[in-house]
Amino acid sequence: MARIERLLVANRGEIAVRVIRAAQEMGIVAIAAYSDADESSLAVLLADEAINIGGAHAKKSYLNPEALLAAARTVNADAVHPGYGFLSENADFARAVTDAGMVWIGPAAATISRMGHKAEAIATARSAGVPVVPGSDGLLTDADDAVACARRIGYPVLLKAAAGGGGRGIRIAGSDDEVAQAFAEARQEAEAAFGDAGIYLEKFIARARHIEVQVLGDGTDAVHFFERDCSLQRRRQKVWEEAPAAILDEATRTALCTSAVALTRSVGYVGAGTIEYLYDPDTGEYYFIEMNTRIQVEHPITEEICGVDLIRAMITVCQGDPLPYRQDRIHRRGHAIEVRINAEDPAAGFRPSPGTIDNVDWAQGPGVRVDSLVYSGYRIPPFYDSMIGKLIVWAETREQALARLARALRETELVGPATTLPFFEELLAEDDVRNNELHTTWIEQRTETR
Ligand code: ADP
Ligand code: ADP
Ligand code: MG
Repeated sequence: MARIERLLVANRGEIAVRVIRAAQEMGIVAIAAYSDADESSLAVLLADEAINIGGAHAKKSYLNPEALLAAARTVNADAVHPGYGFLSENADFARAVTDAGMVWIGPAAATISRMGHKAEAIATARSAGVPVVPGSDGLLTDADDAVACARRIGYPVLLKAAAGGGGRGIRIAGSDDEVAQAFAEARQEAEAAFGDAGIYLEKFIARARHIEVQVLGDGTDAVHFFERDCSLQRRRQKVWEEAPAAILDEATRTALCTSAVALTRSVGYVGAGTIEYLYDPDTGEYYFIEMNTRIQVEHPITEEICGVDLIRAMITVCQGDPLPYRQDRIHRRGHAIEVRINAEDPAAGFRPSPGTIDNVDWAQGPGVRVDSLVYSGYRIPPFYDSMIGKLIVWAETREQALARLARALRETELVGPATTLPFFEELLAEDDVRNNELHTTWIEQRTETR
């Protein structure tokens, strides 16, 4: 297959910067697609070329397939990288890109449809022999169906939007009445937020760990790059991630990673992806919850422990080359931690705080990596996700990584809007964090008991 020469980055923020860097290292011309609000973004500054795709509101730019396709044609792109969020898991957009004769840096549209629809993904996982959370057999038909199913599996349960993502479209219910009411509300919300009213139901796994496996496929074969522990979440959104999951014993790790590869292979997957699981430390059981058919926010911690470049790897396989790594050559070493720096005020209930970064001095030195979108003088636009960067550390052990994170947080100075940086200093002082005694609702429970 022909080499990719000109790549349009159909995204913004730190992931656009990350993709531009990988493309440039590969000798590919990196072209930033930017909205009216992102004219002075780091992505535009670093890219080889840039093209305006429309208004500040995402619907007019980053979520506008026609605008992105037109831009791709105008700049003569031969490939499109969708990053994460926005149109990255939109099968119609993926198909439109390939129909226009360009390479889509992600799995085939049919794979996105199959694995991006959560209820269908669960059925696919089950038939690949991967354990799933006890729940409804596919979508719920009505409130009575939801109640009957919840009674069968036992309370509490979660109602989940089949097209949901980013921690949204999930509700907990503890009784028949709550399920019936939550079902009606969830349906409406899912239709409004995701354009798809499909709802399914799962048993709520209390005090679970969120553990996910990074995979890469070339259509015929697939490999894994071990796992990440993303149990520190706020409102079901990850805030702090680690690799590897120090809680796992080697046998469980192998089983988990092997099942992820089996599932990836079973759908002829092309590109980078993540298989997400919940792990119950009390029973040692793990359950598939979903697959993300794209690169993820927290991919750098995997890159750090495995010494690989996942963006380069996904571009490589999507342009038609075989897997650049053999499983027996993929090793992990040490421990990595990533914290998501958001322009939000932790002292004010994490209220978004856009504004101008007067000055930023990032931490430096051994084992520190910063994937960010800000620079001194940069004005954070109010239209998008509040994440302004990620601080990533690597060290030989988890304990050393925690110490390095503390040091990196001390060194980082950001003058301007409030950020979540002080929140991580607080977390570092917690015994449960140091002792790795965490679960997906730990942050909420901590807030309640303070
Ligand atoms: P990851 O799965 O990579 O850890 P998130 O779940 O936080 O990351 O999602 C990455 C970004 O994509 C976030 O900005 C999130 O809001 C957004 N996102 C992911 N899936 C969806 C979706 N289905 N609808 C809307 N936004 C989404
Ligand atoms: P999204 O597409 O929004 O990422 P997920 O299905 O991955 O949705 O769930 C997001 C988070 O919600 C999980 O990381 C976990 O913390 C929580 N969650 C999801 N399903 C369950 C479940 N069955 N039991 C307990 N927590 C769950
Ligand atoms: Mg998820």
